[in-house]
Amino acid sequence: MVAPETDYRCIIHIDADAFFASVEQRDNPDLKGKPVIIGFPHGRGVVSTCSYEARVYGVRSAMPAVQAYRLCPNGIFIKPRMERYKQVSDAMFDIFDRYSPVIEKLSIDEAFIDASGEDGVQIAAAIRRDVKHELGITVSAGVSYCKFVAKLASDSCKPDGLRRVSREEAQSFLDNLPVSRLPGIGPKTKSKLDTLGISTIGALRQMPETWFVRVFGKSAKRFQDMARGIDNEPVTPWREPKSVSEENTFEKDIDSTEALKGHLAILAQNVAFRLRKARLKCRTVGIKIRFHNFSTITREHTLSEPVSSDAEIFHEAKALLEAAAPEKPVRLLGVTAKGLVPETSRQAPLFEPPESPWDDISRSMDRLRNKYGKPVVLLGSCLRSRTEKEQDTG
Ligand SMILES: [Mg+2]
Repeated sequence: MVAPETDYRCIIHIDADAFFASVEQRDNPDLKGKPVIIGFPHGRGVVSTCSYEARVYGVRSAMPAVQAYRLCPNGIFIKPRMERYKQVSDAMFDIFDRYSPVIEKLSIDEAFIDASGEDGVQIAAAIRRDVKHELGITVSAGVSYCKFVAKLASDSCKPDGLRRVSREEAQSFLDNLPVSRLPGIGPKTKSKLDTLGISTIGALRQMPETWFVRVFGKSAKRFQDMARGIDNEPVTPWREPKSVSEENTFEKDIDSTEALKGHLAILAQNVAFRLRKARLKCRTVGIKIRFHNFSTITREHTLSEPVSSDAEIFHEAKALLEAAAPEKPVRLLGVTAKGLVPETSRQAPLFEPPESPWDDISRSMDRLRNKYGKPVVLLGSCLRSRTEKEQDTG
């Protein structure tokens, strides 16, 4: 049964405008009004964000940086400073906290805020004002009775906009939007809909239920509801991540297994560090290998006890790499941690597994890493100390 809808529900979607580029322009006023592109113009990097001045040239997020350089040779390319963006993001979420206790973080610069029972437009305006004043960047806001309409509303008024879409306006607002704007419509589904001549959400809405089942399978109801503006998903505060992963596209393809292991060690260390920072452990470690011809394989292994140390995650990833025995040159390598559980979780109440000796070492390494901002202890040296430790206790 669909929950009864009331006008009491009010959801705000906030999304910073060209976030990384705006932070750079804020930190360095010389960049204001200029085409700023976050990414490297050489090699295989992609554009992670670009300022609106760069968008005029056709530069877009996720575009290969080399292509961005061709479109906009005068663009100012800047290496991403993730630590800095995280600082500004944290400050921005602190501002959101002033206005509602129910905040769902979607990404570093995007959130749903539950403002039910209150004046959403007023709250959104106050948040926009505070962020601009205190952080020197702009955010766009959508206000509506449900999550996905609020998100489409903020998308439609970027940059530096505020738009409310009431329940009464929602259907005509949706009907005129391209069908690809619905969350979950990927390029494959889009081209399928294109061939059927369905280009707007309104055209989609008019299709019969049996058609939805044929095209969308299990998700038929969800898509049919969205096309009609029905979405009862609650704002879920600070959803725990489902996985933590790191990947690296190499400047040049790599065919030496030893070199791959070196890169794997760095990726494993970064994944493990992020897990510990979130006070999580993982039960499953996975790797991803993309070959020179873009074919991609993934491998994973589930452990009996959850882990979060550099050494344990690297050990698993390395075993997977060795078993996969990649022969062709490798273009991209990735490490993923899944099956996440809180650090303190126990297998069974009567049996308390001994803490891995690595937990203690990891904590010391994290203190150094937090202080210096990058890994200061290399995995090789810690692998050696494991052998010594085993000999001591053995
Ligand atoms: Mg954004």
